[in-house]
Amino acid sequence: MQTFGMLALKPEGIELDFAATAQWILNFFAGLSLEQAAFYLLIQNILQYVLCLAAGHLLIMMFSSRRIAPAPAPLEQKEIWLSISCIFLNTAVAVIGFQLWKAGIIVIHTSSNALSVVTDVMCLLLLMDLLMYLTHRICHIPFIYPWVHKTHHLYDNPRPLSLFVLNPLEVFGFGFLWLAVIAFYHSSWLGIVIYLLMNATWGTLGHLGVEPMPDYWTRIPVLGRLTTSRFHAEHHQLKEKNYGFYTDVWDSLFKSISEGYRKQGK
Ligand SMILES: [Zn+2]
Ligand SMILES: [Zn+2]
Repeated sequence: MQTFGMLALKPEGIELDFAATAQWILNFFAGLSLEQAAFYLLIQNILQYVLCLAAGHLLIMMFSSRRIAPAPAPLEQKEIWLSISCIFLNTAVAVIGFQLWKAGIIVIHTSSNALSVVTDVMCLLLLMDLLMYLTHRICHIPFIYPWVHKTHHLYDNPRPLSLFVLNPLEVFGFGFLWLAVIAFYHSSWLGIVIYLLMNATWGTLGHLGVEPMPDYWTRIPVLGRLTTSRFHAEHHQLKEKNYGFYTDVWDSLFKSISEGYRKQGK
């Protein structure tokens, strides 16, 4: 096999070499000043915002016959401003992450070995899911709720934008939890990228108001533990159920899963 930078020439054709790609990106960021890194991380957060909204509205059009929550009220200016502030706050968290990485507190390795990447994604996903489940439950304690989480529940018939309509404290809460997890767990670059893509995907799915997953989804072994769009839509309606985000594992274990969620399609 011959390699040309990030591309590897194999008998079957040209393939992207993920380890070389990871190394190239890490080298690129290592050479940036704080201001330059902030600029690129802002661009990345703007792109994520635009792509989540575009994909979300495309899915709503495709699955309009499978509505699971009433259509949202007309968009308010407050929602737009809160969601735009979320882009800048997420960028601030990413810049802090960049500084922690440069200081050696966050360590990212470049392995592209399939087993190690799958292990990283599973560990990051389950660990973040557990921590988000616990912090989400804490956020619903009555004297904490108005200070941190009420903003997100002001719009209980969600639309894709609702993913970004959060109190700044909640954005920082999630962001610092994530930085703490990757400081504790030394993941591969590819594991982090896949986790972040899944985070954006499940965030978008949870706020569609329509269901793209098939009715039999929850009956699929292992994969069916990943939540459907209905799972988080029900949290917006019921509030004291379905605190998890990526999986229903912790809600099942701690008995906070909504009645009937796992019985769909039976
Ligand atoms: Zn939500
Ligand atoms: Zn909530």
